[in-house]
Amino acid sequence: MDNERGTLRSARAGVTNAPLDRARLPRSRRPVGEPADPGSSSPWILMYHSVAVEEEDPYQLTVSPERFAEQIAWLHRRGRRGVSVRELMRARAHGRGDKLVGLTFDDGYADFARYAVPILQAYGFTATAYVVADLLGQDNGWDVEGPRKKLLTVEEVTELAAAGWEIGSHGLGHQALPGLPADVIAVQTRESRRLLEEVVGGPVTGFCYPYGAVDAPAALAVRDAGYDYACAIAHSALTGRFALPRCYVGDRDGAWRLRAKRGRHRLRDAVTELRHGRRILAERAVTERRP
Ligand SMILES: [Zn+2]
Repeated sequence: MDNERGTLRSARAGVTNAPLDRARLPRSRRPVGEPADPGSSSPWILMYHSVAVEEEDPYQLTVSPERFAEQIAWLHRRGRRGVSVRELMRARAHGRGDKLVGLTFDDGYADFARYAVPILQAYGFTATAYVVADLLGQDNGWDVEGPRKKLLTVEEVTELAAAGWEIGSHGLGHQALPGLPADVIAVQTRESRRLLEEVVGGPVTGFCYPYGAVDAPAALAVRDAGYDYACAIAHSALTGRFALPRCYVGDRDGAWRLRAKRGRHRLRDAVTELRHGRRILAERAVTERRP
């Protein structure tokens, strides 16, 4: 379950206000061309889970194929191209990300290949699927209220990667990382990456926090495991390359609501940047007052 309400709650609970930890985060790996302040103007990334016809959807994870096609057509009409987060980050590093929007699919549902891929292909879009490395071919048993949804198999993930779709890690067992012991977080990030690299036959550079839940130890572990970026959900003190905020998209989101969500994302970016700037000033004032 990563729907907005549940996830924001766990994400907020998981976020620590630790500016020093945050300051340690992206510097060593910040590529040339990235903004000096990783909290400023984050890219627009949409968060999907399942594209399917579903009678029951207690976690609001599912968008119907018709609605999904409308949303993708709307992006296309607005002159935007949907891309994987890998491509989005590369383009931004070269100052070319303006017209791109990241498209992400959490959990690795089998319906990604069946419904989402053909629609995306029709527009020449790409996307990222974040899969739970040890649950390929199983189902979403972690969503206790169901409905049960099949997850992509090993073969499907291999084929998708070969066809150019980015496969990222969603950890092991769909577990929230904050609060886990450090060695367990290290296994979650490193082992899931290792398993998936075997499946896709190449590097896996993207991570997506289960439930969007991130704190400084989790973000540092993701960086240290060799990932290039990680997706969260909410804007927070950790917003940056290893906690990219994303915009939840649901079945109710038509053109008007998508436009409103775009505006809200920009506003949250601005507020995050302002808070970050204030914190730096406050820290500086404290440092300067020291004897
Ligand atoms: Zn998930």
